[in-house]
Amino acid sequence: MTAYKGQCHCGQTTWTAEISDEKHVLCHCTACKVLGGGEFTLNQIIPKENFKLTGGDLKQYTYKGDSGNSVDCFYCPNCTSHPYHHQHIMGDNIVIRTSLLKDTEKWGKPAAEIYGSQKWSWQPQTADDIFDTTPPS
Ligand SMILES: [Zn+2]
Ligand SMILES: [Zn+2]
Repeated sequence: MTAYKGQCHCGQTTWTAEISDEKHVLCHCTACKVLGGGEFTLNQIIPKENFKLTGGDLKQYTYKGDSGNSVDCFYCPNCTSHPYHHQHIMGDNIVIRTSLLKDTEKWGKPAAEIYGSQKWSWQPQTADDIFDTTPPS
């Protein structure tokens, strides 16, 4: 288990995330495109207790995910960087943005891609596995 440091764009909000499964999961969903202003995001699921805010505050808003369940998004109130979100259906786990953590480029290419059904046609597939939505559980 390694504690990775994260910081929002403006520097007002800082956090650490303890991660044991050091892999990026690439998400092509439409919400991620709107949130991140890019064609995908990089994520990992961790227990909520492994996330610690070390500076500043986060604001929160809620939207309805694909499944109809609520998703709480947490963001820096100054610059709107989005360190993590919590899908109520996931219980005590959260989805953290691994690209906002320092030194995570070295994890290499994504381990899997999700929401492949919403992948832009010109975006190359980089992971070996791609799922239409999420992996079957
Ligand atoms: Zn900020
Ligand atoms: Zn997504």
